[in-house]
Amino acid sequence: MALAALALPLGYALGGPRAPPAPRSAVTKMQVQVEKAKNAISEASARQLGNDAFLNEDLMARARAGPGKVSDTKLKVGVIGGGLAGMICAMDLADAGHEVEIFEGRPFVGGKVSSWQDKDGNHIEMGLHVFFGCYYNLFGIMQRVDAFDQFLRLKEHTHTFVNRGGAIGELDFRFPVGAPVSGLQAFARTEQLGVFDKIANALRLGTSPIVRGLVDFDGGMEMVRELDDITFSEWFTSLGGSRGSIERMWDPIAYALGFIDCDHISARCMLTIFMMFAIRTEASVLRMLEGSPQTYLHDPILKYLDDRGVKVHTKARVRDIEHELDAQGRPSKVNAIQLATGDRHEFDAIVAACDVPGIQKVLPESFRQFKEFDNIYELDCVQIATVQLRFDGWVTEMNDPARMRDVSGDQSDGKGAGIDNLLYSADAEFSCFADLALVSPGEYYKEGEGSLMQAVMDSRAFGRSEEQIVQDCLQQMYTLFPSARELNCTWSNVVKLGQSLYREKPGQDKFRPGQATPIPNFFLAGSYTYQDYIDSMEGATKSGLMAADEVIARADAIGKMRGVAAEQREPVAA
Ligand SMILES: Cc1cc2nc3c(=O)[nH]c(=O)nc-3n(C[C@H](O)[C@H](O)[C@H](O)COP(=O)(O)OP(=O)(O)OC[C@H]3O[C@@H](n4cnc5c(N)ncnc54)[C@H](O)[C@@H]3O)c2cc1C
Repeated sequence: MALAALALPLGYALGGPRAPPAPRSAVTKMQVQVEKAKNAISEASARQLGNDAFLNEDLMARARAGPGKVSDTKLKVGVIGGGLAGMICAMDLADAGHEVEIFEGRPFVGGKVSSWQDKDGNHIEMGLHVFFGCYYNLFGIMQRVDAFDQFLRLKEHTHTFVNRGGAIGELDFRFPVGAPVSGLQAFARTEQLGVFDKIANALRLGTSPIVRGLVDFDGGMEMVRELDDITFSEWFTSLGGSRGSIERMWDPIAYALGFIDCDHISARCMLTIFMMFAIRTEASVLRMLEGSPQTYLHDPILKYLDDRGVKVHTKARVRDIEHELDAQGRPSKVNAIQLATGDRHEFDAIVAACDVPGIQKVLPESFRQFKEFDNIYELDCVQIATVQLRFDGWVTEMNDPARMRDVSGDQSDGKGAGIDNLLYSADAEFSCFADLALVSPGEYYKEGEGSLMQAVMDSRAFGRSEEQIVQDCLQQMYTLFPSARELNCTWSNVVKLGQSLYREKPGQDKFRPGQATPIPNFFLAGSYTYQDYIDSMEGATKSGLMAADEVIARADAIGKMRGVAAEQREPVAA
């Protein structure tokens, strides 16, 4: 079987059949990229788009080193939104010599990666966060704030599926030879698929853009980009992929990536990740934080910002963006922001680093005269509910009943029993989950207690009451780990997020705006804005760096706009 799986892709790479499904829309990915770059002038930002961004070894160095130049003109820049995109953009702007203030509506920074403590000291999270090995930009940022080596825990190089009754299936990438061979043998050997599904899988992946990408990366990526208009299921089943593979393996992965299944997620999103996995051995390695995102990710970033004089205002929701109109009644310059409290702050440039609901709310109506802004209202978001369940024993320890119940002594630093990795399942309404007391024990392990299972449930469960969600999650946890029925759930929590990631369904790329906009001193950042990755922490990081690059590239021209009437201004774009 292993040989069959290897032979097909290699045969294809040497000139086998090539049959990508035809895109439905006439708008090709290349056209989408050209459209996004329309307002952009920064070369550094342009380098984040396109094939170079995936192959250039120096990209981690760029994020680690910062923008690499100090602007001649010092600007006052306001950043709306204190998620990763906003904070990372602010890091670069401060390093380029600008005076930066961040305005975050919530009481804490971090956006969708935020975490906080309840009144009893429990660390609550907006969602389970996993770091793929291909997060080169985010890792560069974490190195810059001295968080990479000390605050990320590396997991075994295997992706683990837990099935009903506790049966484990793995995509085990541990192999003496690197990508793509490590990946091919993982698919060939996995217990998660039967023989028929493995053959069908090999057939489909063997005729995919990924295989072309191994010998012609640019060509392979171009094929992937053309696949934004069809679903992964449509692409996968069009040339031999089986429903069995989708149901047992690809659906849990699609849910984990975008909280929607293969029948709804864009083929481009899934294949972008597979492409990375195929060409880089480390891309599929998982890491998780030492403990809560606030302590181990945001605090180091906040310290970096504080050291550079960046002011971070929380509970500071921006209600309006003051702007000027040109002779045609179109917005031509932004001047200030108004907070919900009524406070007003003037700036030379503004970066809106919001989530989709936030940007849709804060953009003034007149901005929608520009297609770039109006398109944002075509994006919608998926619902999720993050559930935490604390137990009086170790849920994922299925082999040793005594060890499962043993919570005595010091079991900190990942010494608890069970599976220390991210878990996927095809047999539960949560796609991915983990025992935080094991994978991120820093603040999640509590002496005398066991597992803290954290699972992300999607729209299938969202409408239910919190009590019901806890019950359903608990029962499904017991279905996956029958031995854990002997354990008691001692505490639970649910965080519902009605609008989380933008829905990564087919055809969305054309609606995602670039970071530079038609208004020369107004910029966008956020994982929903156009970058060549999926909605993720890495996507947010890329967007923040790109927005900063655009501000820096225009600093002198924006400086010249100060106090100059619209009709006397020179155009900013080169
Ligand atoms: C449950 C869940 C699990 C996830 N798991 C992973 C994972 O494992 N790995 C991964 O890479 N990614 C994961 N993600 C995705 C990742 O969290 C996001 O892609 C990323 O954090 C987005 O960052 P952002 O800065 O673009 O947006 P956000 O984090 O949404 O930040 C935007 C900020 O803007 C603020 N804001 C909006 N409007 C205003 C306003 N008018 N005034 C002031 N502030 C405003 C918001 O309050 C928010 O803090 C997950 C997401 C969720 C929801």
